[in-house]
This record gives sequence, C-alpha cells and structure tokens, in this order.
Amino acid sequence: MPTITQTAPVPFTSEDYTARMARVVAQAQEAGLTGAIVTPGPDLVWLTGYQPTAITERLTMLVLLPDQQPTMLVPRLERPDVEAADGAASVAITDWVDATDPYAAASQLLRPDGTYAMSDSAWAMHLLGLQKVWPESSYLSMTQSLPMLRAVKDANELARLAAAGAAGDATYEQILSVRFAGRLETDVAADLARLLREFGHEQVDFTVVGSGPNGANPHHEAGDRTIEPGDAVVLDFGGLMYGYGSDTTRTVCVGEPSQQIREVHEIVRLAQQAGVDAVRPGVSCQAIDRAARKVIADAGYGEQFLHRTGHGIGVTTHEPPYMVEGEERPLVPGMCFSVEPGIYLAGRFGVRIEDIVTVTGDGVRPFNNTDHALQVVA
Ligand code: ZN
Ligand code: ZN
Ligand code: ZN
Repeated sequence: MPTITQTAPVPFTSEDYTARMARVVAQAQEAGLTGAIVTPGPDLVWLTGYQPTAITERLTMLVLLPDQQPTMLVPRLERPDVEAADGAASVAITDWVDATDPYAAASQLLRPDGTYAMSDSAWAMHLLGLQKVWPESSYLSMTQSLPMLRAVKDANELARLAAAGAAGDATYEQILSVRFAGRLETDVAADLARLLREFGHEQVDFTVVGSGPNGANPHHEAGDRTIEPGDAVVLDFGGLMYGYGSDTTRTVCVGEPSQQIREVHEIVRLAQQAGVDAVRPGVSCQAIDRAARKVIADAGYGEQFLHRTGHGIGVTTHEPPYMVEGEERPLVPGMCFSVEPGIYLAGRFGVRIEDIVTVTGDGVRPFNNTDHALQVVA
C-alpha cells in the first residue's frame, strides 16, 4: 500500500482567528446588521477553534459587534475548555451558571432592538430564548445574510483542502483493486471509510456506493444490495482531514461496461471537464452550472441531471458558494467547490464524476487528480 507523505499544516494563529472575527464584523456592517451571534458548529470552529466536547443544550454563544472585543458567553463548567481554544486569546469570556437564566446573561451582550446574523445550526430553543428576552430584536441566518463569509480560503486552508483531496485520490486508487462482484455495497463502503482514515482523515462523513439501479438515486448511501457483474457503481466519499473537507466521486464498472454505460459515462466526463474549464475569477457561479449542464442537455439527458453542479467546501462539506442557476455572484481566487455533474437513469444506473477545485489568480486548480476514464473493477 502506498503511503502518501503529508506534512501536517502549521496551526492557525491567534492572528488568523482575530482576522476572521474582524471579517464577520465588517461583512455584518456591510449587510446593515448590528452584529453576529455564533453558536457551536462550523462557524465557531472556524472563528475560534472551539468545539464543545459533547453536544450540549447549555447556551454557548460568541457575540461579534463593531468596536467591541469579541465576547463569548459560556456555561461556567465549560469555561476551561473555551479558554484553551486556539482562537480564545482575543476573546473576552463571560459565563453563566446552572439555575440562572442564560438568556438574561445573553441579553446584557445584545442591543434590545438589534438585528443579528445567527449561525444556521443554532438551536431553536436558544433563538426563542433571545427573542423572548429582547422582543424587538431580530435574527437572520448566517448563510443567507453573510453567504460568502467562509468562501474564500487562505493559503493554510488551501493546503489542508489539497491534503484532504490527495487522501481522497489515494483512497480511490486503492479501491480499484478490491473485489466488488458478489459483495454488499456496505462492504465496499466500509473499505472506503477504512482507506480514508488510513490516508489521514480524522472523520469520514459519507461513503456512497450506488450499484446498478441504486446509482440512479444521487443521495443513496450504501445498502444491502449485492453488487453484480455489469453494474455501474457510483463511489462518492469524503470527510475531514486537518479540519477541512474532501469530496470526490468516480463511477466504475464491474467487468466490461455495456455500450450505454460507456456512452453515458463519456457524456458526464465531458460535462465535468466543461464545468472545470469554465472556472476562472470573475465568472458567475451559475456559469459553471450552465457549462456542465449544456453538455448533458445537448446529449439529450438534461432531465436526468437532477441536481446543481456543485457546492463549496471548507470546514464543512456543503457550504456556499453553490454552482447553481440563479447564483450570479462571481468566482473569486481562493474559493473552493465541487464540480459534479451526473446522469441518473431510474431503474438502471447512474453516473457522476466529482472533483474539488479552487479558483486561482487566472484559472483553476483541481484538488482531485485521479483519472476520469471509466475504470473496470473485478
Ligand atoms: Zn451531496
Ligand atoms: Zn460527493
Ligand atoms: Zn459533493
């Protein structure tokens, strides 16, 4: 088994975290908001490096306002963990204790009539608590109000995404030599998960193995179907490495492919290439979707391409920017996203090819670099 040598990336510095918090404040002001409220989840990890060790119902929130030091309200028993977080140096920490009202404590940090961007994953219970304590306050989702907050990655983030992509590629190369015919989809899925971990992932988020008709369902995970000779098999897998996502798809064939599988695979291959070729700074997100979709529609399979062409990736595997019709915002160097067209023939098979790419100063750089040709497996 080849081992890929990965040098661990340098840790994010407290300056990195401070700059990110300043970015939130600047974007919130630009959007006409009072500030932002960040609760545990991807935004909080990105801004402070802090993730509670367990899912907790106790209120934890970071408040970001113009001309004020970032302030985090935490349950007192979790205070030591918060203080130990990499990005905590520039954050003022205040706490609340059990048997007191956390929303009364939170109200002290907020303006009674403020309008705040709030983490998408904030618990409804906490949002309701804040609305009750300040009935004149209002809240918008972070993704809707500050959609491009995490979209442009810095050099350190790009290095992590590249490492995650290389591990995904190594996983794909290894899976080509395992047996498919006669095994369950879940067996191959377990192989994919094991390989991703061996190649450095700390977390595996999905291992899609869609064989034969199951491949025609884009979000089929893996089930108890036995893979058969002649099946096209969609393999879509990824997770987190150094805190950043991987997500790649190849469609293989068990034994000799039928003429139809060859034909459909070639159309998807050309569509994916057209999408990637369209990537450069200043082009709209929807132009990437259009470029890939045109190839598939021209070949007569437009109705069978059931989803958008791509999604952003970073500390999560699905985030803005989305490569979708109607998204007119332009690509900016440092944005990272998938290009993943597919064709899904109900009851028969599906084909999808997916690479993560980043926008460079004058074009595109893929983080996945394995062959796009249809590979035959045993
Ligand atoms: Zn998806
Ligand atoms: Zn995928
Ligand atoms: Zn994807």
